Amino acid sequence: MNDNLASLIRPEIVSLTPYKLQNKPSGAINLDLNENPYPPSPIVIKSLSEEIFHVNRYPNPQMEHELRKELSEYTNLDPENIFISNGSDSIIYALMDVFISKGDKVVTLKPSFKVYEIATMKNGGKMEHYLLREPDFRVNKDELVELAKGSKLLILVNPNNPTGNLVIKKDDIESLLSEYEGLVVVDEAYYEFCNVTFANLINEYHNLVIIRTFSKAFSLAGLRIGYALAHKNIVNLLLKVRQPIPFDKLALKAALMALKDIEYMKKIVKLIINERARLFSHLKSIANITPFPSQTNFILFKSSIADLSKKLAEHKIFIKDFSEALGNYYYRVSIGLPSENKLFIDKLKEIIKEH
Ligand code: PMP
Repeated sequence: MNDNLASLIRPEIVSLTPYKLQNKPSGAINLDLNENPYPPSPIVIKSLSEEIFHVNRYPNPQMEHELRKELSEYTNLDPENIFISNGSDSIIYALMDVFISKGDKVVTLKPSFKVYEIATMKNGGKMEHYLLREPDFRVNKDELVELAKGSKLLILVNPNNPTGNLVIKKDDIESLLSEYEGLVVVDEAYYEFCNVTFANLINEYHNLVIIRTFSKAFSLAGLRIGYALAHKNIVNLLLKVRQPIPFDKLALKAALMALKDIEYMKKIVKLIINERARLFSHLKSIANITPFPSQTNFILFKSSIADLSKKLAEHKIFIKDFSEALGNYYYRVSIGLPSENKLFIDKLKEIIKEH
């Protein structure tokens, strides 16, 4: 890079590495990104095939208004407590833009969702980690409050990715919200798989932000749409930093129609939860594999064998290796279709037998 350009770059950006999704061959079995293996509701698909004719126009603000109204019913909160953007990743960036500048401390769990770290560093913030320990990977509220002293944001992914468990009890979150002076962000990306939410605390605690997504239970990962629940003052701050038109028409329409067919989502979630139980007991029955209980659409497991994900990838089966974050050797597998899970288990058994 030419020297002059290098001197123009913000120092925080220089040390960042771009977030990269793995390139996968056709016919791949995608069990690495916690996606939903089922397509969205037929109602969503039909509405998208109509909406596509109108993508020459920007989305009408009325569409966002309608989605906020629909989300208000879904969450039991007022529309003014709801902020919508293109995927929860962009909400995480917006939160950082409102609250974090150079040197500010942000606390999150380890291991947890990586994007919080990237977004903090992008703004020059300092990340500190609360280490989750086996076997239950839960937080001790008092230890957490102590560690978080002086920080501006405390981020809890609940249930957590990649450990899959609920990290904090309702009583503890309430005392945390009273004792901690900063903002508590609870990421409920996997809410629909466990039905545990702190959304009803929004009106009581004005330092709580909840982040949700349409990418998981609603099968809309490819369209990029998510939302935050918070006190209206926080929603108004997030609106200030949001891009002028932060979502596309198709995503808005799909989210709206998905909420009009909650029964479909519930049916899919039930299938995934049943399959999760089956996959868990299969994993448990394999010598050398220890799975951890999950409240999400994925399972974390431990093995003494290195590079299981690479070996599976040779057979076009993709899972995620967490050994770097957790130690030797941890892997996360998303719940796929029954046929995909069977292929994964069969191949895993073969690899372990050959080892
Ligand atoms: N939060 C958590 C905890 C996640 O695991 C993910 C995706 N894996 C996201 C947010 C991102 O969701 P979205 O697709 O809405 O950006």
